[in-house]
Amino acid sequence: MTSATPILLTPGPLTTSQRTRSAMLTDWGSWDDGFNALTASVCGRLLAIANGTGSHVCVPLQGSGTFAVEAAIGTFVPRDGKVLVLVNGAYGKRLAKICAAMGHDHTVYETADDVPTTPEAVDGLLAADRAITHVGLIHCETSTGILNPLPEIAAVVARHGRGLIVDAMSSFGALPIDAGTVPFEALIAASGKCLEGVPGMGFVIAKADALAKAEGNSPSLALDLHDQHVYMRRTGQWRFTPPTHVVAALHEALLQYEDEGGLPARHAKYARNCEVLIRGMERLGLRSFLPARIQAPIIVTFHAPADPKYRFADFYAAVRERGFILYPGKLTQVETFRVGCIGHVESADMERAVEAVADAFRALSITTL
Ligand SMILES: *Cc1c(COP(=O)(O)O)cnc(C)c1O
Repeated sequence: MTSATPILLTPGPLTTSQRTRSAMLTDWGSWDDGFNALTASVCGRLLAIANGTGSHVCVPLQGSGTFAVEAAIGTFVPRDGKVLVLVNGAYGKRLAKICAAMGHDHTVYETADDVPTTPEAVDGLLAADRAITHVGLIHCETSTGILNPLPEIAAVVARHGRGLIVDAMSSFGALPIDAGTVPFEALIAASGKCLEGVPGMGFVIAKADALAKAEGNSPSLALDLHDQHVYMRRTGQWRFTPPTHVVAALHEALLQYEDEGGLPARHAKYARNCEVLIRGMERLGLRSFLPARIQAPIIVTFHAPADPKYRFADFYAAVRERGFILYPGKLTQVETFRVGCIGHVESADMERAVEAVADAFRALSITTL
């Protein structure tokens, strides 16, 4: 890799394989049977990853991940519904903003950036407010890398007879989510995260009966998942121009995902990447923000060096010159930066990334130990 094609250690877009990128060299027509078969194959494979075949449907949607989150809120929450939004980072805050933009009554329960939401807290909140119809949860909050206890919270929400909408954008495909045992109405992810496709489409794994009941809810035409699903089931086609190259790349990425051993293998690869990264950075004197117990192997937040000469922009540029793209921190109280563990990268790449970081700090005369 030259510095012109750096390795992306970010929450997406990610480094993809040559094979995935090559799948984008064909121009597909949206009426073409071959392309419709590709879409159907992608949806079937995504459902299988969630163990939702039969009970759930997969509704793909054009756009970045946020479009699919907005579509899910608009489609599943009735206009007179109320959403409890569980927040411990930027993506939770965005979910609340989406509720506000769509004109939905909502209430926010916020914990600190390093405190997972507990099922006990959700239990209390739902018992206290009968008006809440839906709960919005971020599985892995990518703004820090914290993991929220999805199965436990899902069980509480189901016990209260409310609907759960999960933003599993940065966890889907890498962390196990079993639709057979974890009750949810909608679970949202996208092409360009742990499945290692390219960005450009989101998808929602929806409980079939919940989606059937959602007809007419959406205040948006383009983001109406019920409409998208009904049209696709009838015609095999997307309602509006499909992101053909993105679908083709995701299909190829899913074939590789399966060849490599599916979710357990993807999880193991990222866990190794995460471990190598944290250990390596520790050797340089850089501490991770989250304790290991609540750290998902997706992205790691590190405290910036205390050296007053440290500036993220200079550090970023120096690491970029050495072949890696890092990500700024998203915390307001403490100076941090983030390093992703996901994408078509392996532990050897993470070792080299740690060396690049060490070398960058040396070049900038910044002490970390
Ligand atoms: C990436 C991500 C999204 C979607 O962000 P986009 O920029 O719209 O793709 C949503 N939620 C989480 C938790 C994410 O990691």
